[in-house]
Amino acid sequence: MKEHYNRLFRNLNSDKRSWDERTNFRAPHKPLLLLAVLDRFDEGQVTTNLIELSPDLGELFTLYWSRVFPPQTGKRGNIAMPFWHLQNDKFWHLLPRPGFEALVASSVKIHSVTRINEVCFGAKLDDELYALLQTENGRSELRHTLITTYFSEQVQEALLAQTAVNVAAFVYSEELLQQARQQQKRVKEANVAEPVRDQAFRRAIVRAYDHRCAICGVRILTADGHTAVAAAHIIPWSVSHNDDPRNGLALCHLCHWTFDEGLVTFSDRYQVKTSPQLVNIPNLPGHLLTFAGRGLIGPTEETLWPFVDSIRWHRQEVFRTR
Ligand SMILES: [Zn+2]
Repeated sequence: MKEHYNRLFRNLNSDKRSWDERTNFRAPHKPLLLLAVLDRFDEGQVTTNLIELSPDLGELFTLYWSRVFPPQTGKRGNIAMPFWHLQNDKFWHLLPRPGFEALVASSVKIHSVTRINEVCFGAKLDDELYALLQTENGRSELRHTLITTYFSEQVQEALLAQTAVNVAAFVYSEELLQQARQQQKRVKEANVAEPVRDQAFRRAIVRAYDHRCAICGVRILTADGHTAVAAAHIIPWSVSHNDDPRNGLALCHLCHWTFDEGLVTFSDRYQVKTSPQLVNIPNLPGHLLTFAGRGLIGPTEETLWPFVDSIRWHRQEVFRTR
């Protein structure tokens, strides 16, 4: 059975026209999606035979993609494409929502995450493949097949390094959330490598806030699965060395900048306070001022709301009162 899927993974239908030696002259979308799927199994997050096109899967895909094509190459990966087209590879079966059976079975192309989620629940794997992916041995062999078949030696190393970071970051982010839920205080962080810390903190925060900006409430996931929010430390890492999710906020880029610049902060009762300086800035996006007095848009889990001590620190040390 293992050899059967090894063969299928080696022979994915992929475009061979416009790709260079980095990806062995083949389109890398499907192998990168499958690597992300393997990571979800590693994380223990696939507990029934249904692969969901979730933001978590999208983030893993993007992380792998950027190892092959760093942002400066201008090549952007869209997870929706392989998620849809893998149905031509025999082991990946899209599960249509009621009323969309005919559409999903047709040869139409859907390249939007939002649309795919509208028309299907996700993808079901062959039962035999699902069973194989439940085993560590099966996963590592198929990962090896994907990496050695579709990528140059140099890229292989980078992808393996990314796998290691992804797995460690997931474990660390779960630990961060768990400790916060149990109201345990984190002391200084142990020796965790920076890429692992960054990704873990980000995953914990984005999950806790469900991709919503804590100040303006914006929640945008692009059609290819990118999110508008970043994870911000309230007391910066350089000062606090504290990745506790309660020392963090999910913020969109504009709110992140205004928060770090001390142009907005919060009261002890989580109300937005705006700096008097805001009125003196020409060309200010007017909506920022309307946030004054509004409540912080926090996690649904109450235990994950920010520390009042962290907020107080920000108000005293960073907020511009004049
Ligand atoms: Zn915002």
